[in-house]
Amino acid sequence: MRFIDSQERCFHNKKAMIRFFNTLSGRLEVFEPLRPGEVRLYTCGPTVYDYAHIGNFRAYIFEDLLKRFLLYSGYRVFHVMNITDVDDKTIRNSQAQGLTLAEYTQKYINAFFEDIKVLNILPADVYPRATEHIPEMVNLIKILLAKGFAYEKDGSIYYSIARFPSYGQLAKIKPEELKPGARLEADEYEKERAHDFVLWKKRKEGEPFWETELGPGRPGWHIECSAMSMKYLGETFDLHCGGVDNIFPHHENEIAQSEAATGKPFVRYWLHCHHLIVEGEKMSKSKGNFYTLRDLLNRGVDPLALRFLLLSTHYRKTLNFTFEALEQATASLQRLRDFQIEIETRTFPEGYNEEVNQIISLARKEFKEGLSDDLNISLALSAVFSLIRKVNLLLQQGQIKNNDILALKEWLKEIDQVLGVLPPPPKALPEEIMAKIRLRERARQEKNYALADRLRQELLEQGILLEDTREGTRWKIISPKKTFPQ
Ligand code: AMP
Ligand code: ZN
Repeated sequence: MRFIDSQERCFHNKKAMIRFFNTLSGRLEVFEPLRPGEVRLYTCGPTVYDYAHIGNFRAYIFEDLLKRFLLYSGYRVFHVMNITDVDDKTIRNSQAQGLTLAEYTQKYINAFFEDIKVLNILPADVYPRATEHIPEMVNLIKILLAKGFAYEKDGSIYYSIARFPSYGQLAKIKPEELKPGARLEADEYEKERAHDFVLWKKRKEGEPFWETELGPGRPGWHIECSAMSMKYLGETFDLHCGGVDNIFPHHENEIAQSEAATGKPFVRYWLHCHHLIVEGEKMSKSKGNFYTLRDLLNRGVDPLALRFLLLSTHYRKTLNFTFEALEQATASLQRLRDFQIEIETRTFPEGYNEEVNQIISLARKEFKEGLSDDLNISLALSAVFSLIRKVNLLLQQGQIKNNDILALKEWLKEIDQVLGVLPPPPKALPEEIMAKIRLRERARQEKNYALADRLRQELLEQGILLEDTREGTRWKIISPKKTFPQ
């Protein structure tokens, strides 16, 4: 018996060549982590001033796909995701509600952890909070001051971009577009306004502040990520991700801060996902096309179908969210789940079919090759659905045996380690449904066709389609098309 090809397993476990598009070089590059077999990953986490929206989840799900694929490829992954719990927005909103910063942000930190669980996003190893790493940030700013990359002005401390000649390398900004010397306090701004940026903001009346060696104040946003990533991952690490809006100024400034302080390369591969837009327009609260995960769950959306939708468009393409696309994603995912139910719950005759072994080997190879090519999810999913089509045909022809099923179950488990969209496998149909199927079978044998037809119709309404074949009656789960109120 050869239901899992041993050669194939070897190929599967071997780290095949993986390529990613590195924003820094603007090219596809072969991925080789600094330490063999181990990947150190930093992803920019939520600013906890509100519930995360589905655009944020596009970024987190892309990062989850990346991490799961690296794990599947045999790497150990050490993943750090920061929580920005102090910035202009969290301060503004907490003040508006008359709460302390900690009281205000805790609600959204809790919501964030609930949401990522619902979306089956693997947890990071560490979730450092900005407010718990002020000494590390102060220390980094002191180094930048000592090395002449930072200067003080009216009680705040700024980074001098003129002192860092490669400033602009990530965002591809030309030196003549820089405005060194002009200073900016805001955490976020456009590429055209590449000014000296703030590292430490002088205390403002009524705002939270920390009493430090730099004077009373609070950190700028960018220094948070430099200090926390290097604390947990070292001065040089493998992967740093976020959405494209993070490229400038956030990640550009992280590079400037970290490399000026250490004199070493900061991050080896920068990966950025493109934006989620809604019905063709940028998602914004004012346009009323802004969805949180909770909004969608309230409309009856299956969170794993949303996950499937968000991961099934390549991360470097803009994704247009529509309810129609969500319905299609729900239907595609249902095909995968129907297949899972079919192979998990039906019984099959002894033996194996060599053709199934070949179908699985091909699907496994194409799935892995697709994802190795800069996470080409379209190729990977087409390998999955092509296997399902071929095996469904063999199922209809009664050419699937019990050992094939074992291999198919194994394969399904394997791909879902990466996709994360399947519920735990069902062991059988609920007993009341099985009883009804047996009752209808008996009615048919007793030629009570009226009762048999009625039971058949009832089962259909419950999503079970019966097929009478020469070998007896088979059942199949069919799922109603899901639509969502808009
Ligand atoms: P924030 O909480 O705004 O700091 O964002 C958290 C993460 O979500 C960052 O990686 C952003 O780049 C990403 N992000 C924000 N908006 C979108 C969007 N519309 N589509 C994809 N990613 C986004
Ligand atoms: Zn960050």
